[in-house]
Amino acid sequence: MPLQNIIGLSREELITHFQAHQIPKFRVQQVWNWVYHHGVTNFDRMLNISAAMRQQLQEVFVIERPQIATSQVSNDGTQKWLLRFNDNQEAETVHIPEVDRGTLCVSSQIGCTLTCKFCHTGTQTLVRNLTSAEIVGQMMVARDVFGEWPSPVGNRHVSNIVMMGMGEPLYNYENVKKALLIIMDNEGICLSRRRITLSTSGVVPMMQRCGEEIGVNLAVSLHAVRNDVRDHLVPLNKKYPVEDLLDACRHYPGASNSRRITFEYVMLKDVNDSNADAKELLRLIRGIPAKINLIPFNPWPGSTFECSSAMRIEEFASIIQRAGYPSPVRTPRGQDILAACGQLKSASERQRKSKLVEAGTPMAAA
Ligand code: SAH
Ligand code: SF4
Repeated sequence: MPLQNIIGLSREELITHFQAHQIPKFRVQQVWNWVYHHGVTNFDRMLNISAAMRQQLQEVFVIERPQIATSQVSNDGTQKWLLRFNDNQEAETVHIPEVDRGTLCVSSQIGCTLTCKFCHTGTQTLVRNLTSAEIVGQMMVARDVFGEWPSPVGNRHVSNIVMMGMGEPLYNYENVKKALLIIMDNEGICLSRRRITLSTSGVVPMMQRCGEEIGVNLAVSLHAVRNDVRDHLVPLNKKYPVEDLLDACRHYPGASNSRRITFEYVMLKDVNDSNADAKELLRLIRGIPAKINLIPFNPWPGSTFECSSAMRIEEFASIIQRAGYPSPVRTPRGQDILAACGQLKSASERQRKSKLVEAGTPMAAA
């Protein structure tokens, strides 16, 4: 029987596994602390556990992270890791250092079932959901790279998480929930839910549960203020139109002026960037504690959109700001290593495909 990875199991699941192997329940607490607070990868480091018990544990379990297949550093300090999982599938994780924080952009799926027109990930079909182990593993690998064990109380390299990598997190809800609850656990990695933001393209029926059961900050990829435009940009809109989406935002548990919902809005030249669009946006979000994050479009080969001009973005932002909403313009980070929003994995896949072509392998086999 293959060994069971401890990473990614909830405390309850770990108890069940321990009981099934006649390992006393109180050991869960100790093992949890070693794995998630100290970051050990090997049972021999668990000093308060007897040698005989450690032996018993390693006959059943492993403590296993994804492997780093490649790692790249941008000239702005952004790092991107291509991680390889047990079945050789891969996904990317990005670390974005800032003055007062370090944000890890975590993937939830390999590919995406949704087909947002401006997103390169949207041109790939879904390969599979990531497991909770693979989601928690992304954070643990980053912490390994920074040597950030045991979990520091103060400043951290990985101080914030955004579920904004590849995939739609609310289409992989159970695994994302399990992973985030592990990451937030006080006796382990202990990252506050206030430092975690989950971004959704608008899976309306899952939003309430996400707020109630996970309680993290919510970001919503709005990108358009009219249903006809949003139907085109974010086809999921045909299922869950703008009014329903905003209604779900209005009822998102825990949203307040100090915990605002972030509306992400990709700036696409002549598509969604007029002053009239900005004013309509203000009308739509009235009454919602909101912040509007304007994202300059990151182009990719074959994309049909252009980014709005800097002046246009500035004017759009100033309309929003004058109405009293924070409206930061997101600085593209890691563009030189294709780590910016909407560029993930496709790049590696493209590289792999071109390598296969170079090596004479027909594309159809890729
Ligand atoms: N699937 C989720 C989270 C991943 S995408 C979602 O759609 O919200 C994270 C953010 O990057 C989303 O707001 C997405 O719309 C945006 N994005 C995707 N492609 C982009 C691109 N080419 N340029 C700028 N932002 C992009
Ligand atoms: Fe999927 Fe998000 Fe990209 Fe849309 S923007 S295709 S939901 S990853």
